[in-house]
Amino acid sequence: MNSIVHITPDILKNIEVEVKLVLSCEHAVNTIPEKFKNMFHQVENLLETHRGYDSGALDLMNCMKNTKVSYIQVATASRMVVDVNRSLYRRTLFSEFTKPLDKAVKDEILEEYYYGFRRPFEDKIYQYWQQNCIVLHLSVHSFTPVLNGEIRQTDFGILYHPGRKQEKQFAKIWKKELLKLMPEFRVRFNYPYRGKPDGHVRYFRDRENEKYIGLEFEMNQKFAKNKIVHKNISSAFYSALGNLYK
Ligand SMILES: [Zn+2]
Repeated sequence: MNSIVHITPDILKNIEVEVKLVLSCEHAVNTIPEKFKNMFHQVENLLETHRGYDSGALDLMNCMKNTKVSYIQVATASRMVVDVNRSLYRRTLFSEFTKPLDKAVKDEILEEYYYGFRRPFEDKIYQYWQQNCIVLHLSVHSFTPVLNGEIRQTDFGILYHPGRKQEKQFAKIWKKELLKLMPEFRVRFNYPYRGKPDGHVRYFRDRENEKYIGLEFEMNQKFAKNKIVHKNISSAFYSALGNLYK
């Protein structure tokens, strides 16, 4: 899979640079590995909620797959085992079910499910940077339509770091393209979370300025099974990509 997009961004005037589009889905599944299933047998219903996974996010990401995508990484266990979208120091890295486990078991979980997700992705991104490519990383998520009894009116959130010009620019164009296809939809920036805090995207922002554009997409889970909406999100994304890098 090779990206075919070529760009000339401000920062590298008159030099043609290849963009590598990479996708990740940190909360793709609510899978509990066999050996940990006993810890969760009383809370199986919780696994079906947003605590267990981002319902619809993997379907959306799969809908976005095409020849422009250079690399994809998908988590293989529920965030209730370990949240691969958290830094190691965060208290929400493990859930209340896995936090009390012995260090040796937690290390095993980290090795298999955390580094198993993060390392190959990071290796790939470093490889692209070494080739002097710009990495456009889209991390695909979904959010629960009702939180603490409150109905969220927003349909989509695009998260970016306000201090990073290319991310902001891409987010704006993508929103415009989304509204062209779905004019009645509500799209908000940095919702339901701010774009800056800790996470998988943040990890790469801290490592590279010019050759990294990191965005997160948050889809309201009421569209989890809506293939037309997924397709529109994807079409709008690729239109934005085309518009940004003509
Ligand atoms: Zn998520």
